[in-house]
Amino acid sequence: MRLFEHEAKALLAKAGVAVPRGVVATTPQEARAAAETLGGQGARGFVVKAQVLAGGRGKAGGVRLCDTPEAVEQAANALLGARLITAQTGPEGEAVHAMLVEEQLAIAREHYLAFTLDRRCGQVALVAARTGGVEIEAIARRDPKAVLHAPVQDAPLDAALVARVLGHLGAADDAALGEMLEAMRALVWARDLLLLEINPLVRTEDGRWLAADAKIVVDDNALFRQPELAPLAENRTDDAREAEARRLGLSYVRLAGTIGCMVNGAGLAMATMDLIKLHGAEPANFLDVGGGVREEAVAAGMRLLLSDPHVRAVLVNIFGGIVRCDLIARGVVRAVADTGARLPIVLRLVGTNEEEGRRIVAEAGIPVRWARELNEAARLAVEAAR
Ligand code: GDP
Ligand code: MN
Repeated sequence: MRLFEHEAKALLAKAGVAVPRGVVATTPQEARAAAETLGGQGARGFVVKAQVLAGGRGKAGGVRLCDTPEAVEQAANALLGARLITAQTGPEGEAVHAMLVEEQLAIAREHYLAFTLDRRCGQVALVAARTGGVEIEAIARRDPKAVLHAPVQDAPLDAALVARVLGHLGAADDAALGEMLEAMRALVWARDLLLLEINPLVRTEDGRWLAADAKIVVDDNALFRQPELAPLAENRTDDAREAEARRLGLSYVRLAGTIGCMVNGAGLAMATMDLIKLHGAEPANFLDVGGGVREEAVAAGMRLLLSDPHVRAVLVNIFGGIVRCDLIARGVVRAVADTGARLPIVLRLVGTNEEEGRRIVAEAGIPVRWARELNEAARLAVEAAR
């Protein structure tokens, strides 16, 4: 689960990591009032930041520097309710529902600092680079030696590593930065974070260190023991379909294509998506109904696909093991009856109770195309969507 910047900064602040003073606003008027408040506290300028779950906002116009509360109001007015398209959002962009209005910092230097779960070493790694404000991948491409990378454990950072990081950032003997590193490391374990990325980590003209941006990804599998974070999962997506799927306990991700897919098993779902692409179309979603799915959830998942305006054909690809083909068939039939959808449906049901599954669909009299092999199923679905 990715957090919004303002949520991430609230966590950091609580953990003792300094962040710019800021206020969240959901209307232009609130944004202006926030700027007036910050001005009253001594801010000499403002930054208005669109709150979306994607980076690259700066280059996309989602981060605006403003001199006056009036300018803040105008910037918020331009961004709120619009869709922000950044290098990380995809072509549809992401709807902007809130702004973070912050005091403007007098920036002397920008660095990159992160703690990330590194799958190669199977540990959390500290990643630091002297150049900030740029994506770490771009920095590493330009000069791999510019990126310091070191494994860390669930124990206070040792002095030698802290000294190495400070040296790398050109801040040798800066005790305040050393303390900030340790506070961030502790936060990673306390909150079960998969990623804590501060880019840029800012050194101000007056010598303070602040997290000017923050990206946090929480491990979904640990939400059960994070009572403060778990409720945030509710409003994570502005996609009504994704929210509904989450409620149903289905693994569903919206994609940009036209073929709705219902599959059991993540591996099979990926293979199905690959074959759709191979046949010249794009999947409209990833949907793994899993093994222990119930008929209601199958029907609800199918309704999601059938009611999606982007979907032009649905491919149901089930390899019945734990999940039974008759249960899937009942769910599909129910969803078609409920929605009255006339979209082409391609069914591939093989494995447990496949005969009964076929019978149920045939008796319901809904028009579907049957496929025996996966490759054929993908081809039929792509043809049907044309
Ligand atoms: P991102 O593009 O989505 O990663 O958004 P960031 O929060 O990282 O903002 C992008 C850039 O805006 C930063 O790299 C900074 O250069 C600039 N920026 C952000 N906050 C401030 C600020 O308070 N003062 C100044 N001068 N620049 C800022
Ligand atoms: Mn950033």
